[in-house]
Amino acid sequence: MTKLRRLSLTAYEAPLCETVVDCPQPQGSEVLIRIDRCGVCHSDLHMQDGYFLLSEGKRLDVRAGRTLPFTLGHEIAGTVESTGPEAKDIKPGAKYAVYPWIGCGKCAACTAGEDNLCSTNRHLGISIDGGFASHVLVPHPRYLIDYAPLSPSFAGALMCSGLTAYSALKRLREHAARGPALLVGMGGVGMMGLSIAQALFLHAPIVADIDAGKRETALKAGAAAAFDPSDPEARRALVKSTGGGVFAAVDFVGSEKSLAFASGALAKGGKVVVTGLLGGNFSTPVAMFPLKAMTIEGTLTGTLAETIELMALARSGKIDPPPMTERPLGEAQAALDDLRQGKVVGRVVLAP
Ligand SMILES: [Zn+2]
Ligand SMILES: [Zn+2]
Repeated sequence: MTKLRRLSLTAYEAPLCETVVDCPQPQGSEVLIRIDRCGVCHSDLHMQDGYFLLSEGKRLDVRAGRTLPFTLGHEIAGTVESTGPEAKDIKPGAKYAVYPWIGCGKCAACTAGEDNLCSTNRHLGISIDGGFASHVLVPHPRYLIDYAPLSPSFAGALMCSGLTAYSALKRLREHAARGPALLVGMGGVGMMGLSIAQALFLHAPIVADIDAGKRETALKAGAAAAFDPSDPEARRALVKSTGGGVFAAVDFVGSEKSLAFASGALAKGGKVVVTGLLGGNFSTPVAMFPLKAMTIEGTLTGTLAETIELMALARSGKIDPPPMTERPLGEAQAALDDLRQGKVVGRVVLAP
């Protein structure tokens, strides 16, 4: 029998360990995927810790409902190994990216196509076993997405960082028609956002990052201008250069300072979408909502329909892949450690 090799979470706040079990036989509509590549994401660090930091030392515990050992990893691309009897039109040997944000299929969110917001979800690598492994079991072929001619590493990255950026930018389409969008935070998701924004919007985006190197990289990648939000004059300069502020902004950082900067740069009628999870509180005079006709909205990953749209955009060559480093699956913990220490540029991708 084929063995399933995994780098498992066996305890929170502890290094991953290799565990080996018999490979599951796909039942019903299930598909067994042999993993080619699985990206390492910041949220894997939070899963390993068992919490997200909210603010002032407060934590959001995310350990509930997960039995250990557990397999992290949600940026998966792989090859069909075998299928259950009801998995139609799927052939062994075919290559797919795997949409990981799978819902229960029954609740109001799932019925509206928002599996990513399902509260009794089956998100791969979050609620059920994911991709730091040789194989993963996918509940239904509808979650498998063709990605040729892209690389499996890029296809995997589109499932989380790419999708998050795309979903945020889609919510700003009408606003971004009025002038350049502001993208705050040029990390992995932000850089993907910069590339997607150039494919979706008429105007080249303006970026903001406290790191000079990241601002430089963003300018080379097509940003119209770059600001340093730690400079006390930056907000005023940005508002002046845009003739009164931006109508569309994404906060890819998600901290008190980043959201203050993004919302402070808005023109009347402007909107900020927040995707970042860094932590912190945000406060503003309530009167600013009507006075500036301001919208602040959050988004969490994206829907299956958005993933299919994004994949079509990427397959047509309109999105640049982020810089990617491949490492063997056995180095999963070292890859997480490097990410935690801020040593990673772009994406790290594990290859079983
Ligand atoms: Zn992720
Ligand atoms: Zn649901």
